[in-house]
Amino acid sequence: MHSSRTQGVFGVGNPQADWLVIGEAPGAEEDRRGEPFVGRAGQLLDAMLKAIGLSRETNVFIANVLKSRPPGNRDPKPEEVAACLPYLMRQIALMRPRLILAVGRIAAQNLLATDMSLGRLRGKVHHFGELNTPLIVTYHPAYLLRNPGDKRKAWEDLKFARGVFRQVGLGNLGDRT
Ligand code: URA
Repeated sequence: MHSSRTQGVFGVGNPQADWLVIGEAPGAEEDRRGEPFVGRAGQLLDAMLKAIGLSRETNVFIANVLKSRPPGNRDPKPEEVAACLPYLMRQIALMRPRLILAVGRIAAQNLLATDMSLGRLRGKVHHFGELNTPLIVTYHPAYLLRNPGDKRKAWEDLKFARGVFRQVGLGNLGDRT
């Protein structure tokens, strides 16, 4: 099962962060360096996060559905997702993020257990797991590199996510208000 990987790629960033970004699977560069989103798509992801005041060094944790690189960059097989999902669930349970941003169809469909298109999953607040963590869906940065015309829609998604996060934050101020 792990024949195409050099090492597992488990996550990067601040494990105490409020935001958890979840992508698909490590690519070749990520496999080599052991860190998610370090190739071209990763640079775009960093720019997207920066646009709403986030960075992997401070207030985000970044992980993938798959911890190992599938050969030839193909879509993950259901059994590969099934093997890795419990690990991701454990990461989420330990981290208890306030908001999950699923980037791309593979992450969104697997986290939400749906086959709905990414277009239909965008623009609404989903809820994930027992903690009902708000989950928002946007395009994968690798897709945006191929389809820059959709960057505007991704920007809408990020602003939407920032707005939802602010609401969640206010809700949690509780008796401090
Ligand atoms: N694409 C992903 O979905 N994850 C990575 O870590 C790199 C590229």
